[in-house]
Amino acid sequence: MTDIANETRSAELYRRACAVMPGGVSSPVRAYRSVGGVPPFFASASGCRVQTEDGVELLDFIGSWGPLILGHAHPAVVEAVQQAAARGTSFGAPCVAETELAEKVVELSPVADEVRFVSSGTEATMSALRLARAVTGRDGLVKFDGCYHGHADAFLVKAGSGLATFGESSSLGVPAAVSALTGVLPLDDESALDVWFAEHGATTAAVFVEGVPANCGLLSQRPEWLAKLRDVTREHGTLLVVDEVITGFRLGPGGFCGREDYDADLVTYGKVIGGGLPVGAYGGRRKYMERVSPEGGVYQAGTLSGNPLCMAAGTAALRVLEEEDGWARLEALGAAWEARMRPLLERECAAGAPVAMRREASLFWLCFDAEQPPRRFDAIPASGAERYGRFFHALLERGVMFAPSAYEVGFLNLAMTENDLDIAAERVGLALEASR
Ligand code: PMP
Repeated sequence: MTDIANETRSAELYRRACAVMPGGVSSPVRAYRSVGGVPPFFASASGCRVQTEDGVELLDFIGSWGPLILGHAHPAVVEAVQQAAARGTSFGAPCVAETELAEKVVELSPVADEVRFVSSGTEATMSALRLARAVTGRDGLVKFDGCYHGHADAFLVKAGSGLATFGESSSLGVPAAVSALTGVLPLDDESALDVWFAEHGATTAAVFVEGVPANCGLLSQRPEWLAKLRDVTREHGTLLVVDEVITGFRLGPGGFCGREDYDADLVTYGKVIGGGLPVGAYGGRRKYMERVSPEGGVYQAGTLSGNPLCMAAGTAALRVLEEEDGWARLEALGAAWEARMRPLLERECAAGAPVAMRREASLFWLCFDAEQPPRRFDAIPASGAERYGRFFHALLERGVMFAPSAYEVGFLNLAMTENDLDIAAERVGLALEASR
């Protein structure tokens, strides 16, 4: 039985939360179900450090799951939000802040001539899908096993057996008729693309892909596979939608498409463009975007879309990234982190408890029970999750917070110094040893 008198403040707060919210949370991964234990409640955060309600300070490698590329409570973002709030928290009418962020996004994005702002990544992808269906006059959708595109019905589909299959819903409550329109293919497999398009090319409206899949570990794709994907979609008149909700404005100013000179038809953004406030966006060539209401017949709207606080936060964050050489500094930070991790991982391999690492700029992933990082979901060793749970808690006890799931990536941010990386690396080394 739990000893209520001795429970931590977070445990007490979590019990309270569970009485009024499913699992005590607003998003499932926060409930720690895959690593066990009670999630610490955050009281405040600054830079790369979080203070919990238990009075503990944690070095944070989650960064709110991606938005906080400058770290928590960056002064430029806080000031922009405060100033905007004093002028009004929501207008539901055009405002300059919205045009300013749109101009910045259009300037930096290699794909978007125009953007439409929404309030989350989920809204961005579901709206881009609607647009793709309208443009092509087709209903079919393809996604890849191991990619995540938010929780709209069409995307909550998992792979069935076989090379290229129509999926089965991965959530209760999704109509079978909706899942039946979504095909799920393996990543890193050219022949699966051939099989799919030979049979369903003429009815496939869109293929969605994360340029660097970062939602089931970091499953970086081969350039040949990415090139094949572009060719085969173009050949069949299917729109290629690159979901840059994580990679946009993180891998570089132009995100994945900019870094790789990759030619998407539509693109979706989120996370970084909101500076920590809720913003998503979808964009593309003008010939597609002019199909969006009120110019065209593709309806999509939002009471809080283009909210002045969110727009100000996003513009402030992008401005800091640009003015302070943010992307080059993040790449250097990523390289410095990788250099600290490599000897630790070699030591684990030598001890017969292998852990592999993959890094892309300021994103990284440790894959437990593997010597090489995989490129597809079904190649991730399922056994690694158990050791990850032990590692996660051993690390948390030492004041470093990684994501509470073996399948989530780590995020570096500009508030981290080499000294922070030294501290974290030493503790990662100890936690790896303790979790063998
Ligand atoms: N697409 C990708 C690639 C994502 O990583 C996420 C969220 N992790 C989403 C879409 C959905 O974004 P949101 O959680 O803001 O709805």
